[in-house]
Amino acid sequence: MQDKIIFADASSGAATQQASWQRQLSNAIRDPAELCSRLDLPATWLPGASAGHALFTICVPEAFLHRITPGDPHDPLLRQVLPLNEETLTPPGFVADPLAEADHQPAKGVIHKYAGRVLLIASPNCAVNCRYCFRRHFPYDEHRPSRAQWQEALDYLRADTSLQEVILSGGDPLAANDRQLAWLVGELEKIPHLKRLRIHTRLPVVIPGRIDTALLEWLGDTRLQKVMVLHINHANEIDASVEQACARLKNAGVTLLNQSVLLEGINDSVDALATLSERMFEAGVLPYYLHVLDPVQGAAHFDVCDAKARELIAGLRERLPGFLLPRLVREIPGEASKTPL
Ligand code: SF4
Repeated sequence: MQDKIIFADASSGAATQQASWQRQLSNAIRDPAELCSRLDLPATWLPGASAGHALFTICVPEAFLHRITPGDPHDPLLRQVLPLNEETLTPPGFVADPLAEADHQPAKGVIHKYAGRVLLIASPNCAVNCRYCFRRHFPYDEHRPSRAQWQEALDYLRADTSLQEVILSGGDPLAANDRQLAWLVGELEKIPHLKRLRIHTRLPVVIPGRIDTALLEWLGDTRLQKVMVLHINHANEIDASVEQACARLKNAGVTLLNQSVLLEGINDSVDALATLSERMFEAGVLPYYLHVLDPVQGAAHFDVCDAKARELIAGLRERLPGFLLPRLVREIPGEASKTPL
């Protein structure tokens, strides 16, 4: 079994053994015509949706679809998942690998950019395909480690005693199944210098049913301190099922943070950002970062200029207590940390 590819398929295992969240993921909408039809969008939106879909496929599960208002092409959740013709444009400065991640990959599945922490691509799959994603061109096919290659990645972590934290990323790491994740976390916790496990995921928001008993078992058992960084961009993403998922995670001892991306037409107002922070806190989640858009090819239409971003943060500072204010940052390739604006 040494060469068996692992962590590559969210729906691995017999269909009869699929968890509810895996079925939801398998049944996600992946067709532009179906998305437009289910949401009662005028037919004029279909050509753009098809053009964008040809570059980066649609993926929208039912649980997320239900939070979108039918008939409203400007719904802030729809805008995150509906491809537009603008994705076919190639303005200067918007590139395939905006964070130069290809320069920081010491082993397959490993990205090491910052001191003390290292990132593992634990799954190439996502529960939703966000149109602004900075990894929309990431060569996931080159990062599907075999078990032997996972051992090489673990050897890298064992050898670097300056590492204290491992970040599981992707894709979405929680798109891997619990057997795979339990194995990986079990291996990580054997490395004595590792203290923290950080999981960057959108799944508890997109398919809240992902936070099931099987996940809570391996997550609750680990000796590593647990931090989960969610990805929520708009308050409408948080419904009762998301609140319930967050409560289960908190009960398992997980610290919940959130990073958002500042997105034109979605959350680029003081009202939208303030409401997001308030709703997140009600759900037990603290704002962490507000990222300006990484200049990835196909997403230029989401860009908000720095001057407006600074104005928004100044407006938020007047409205919110400090602990609800996200840090406005940009990632600049080669810098030792995120750069505050
Ligand atoms: S869930 Fe994260 S990695 Fe996946 S498409 Fe969205 S932003 Fe990108």
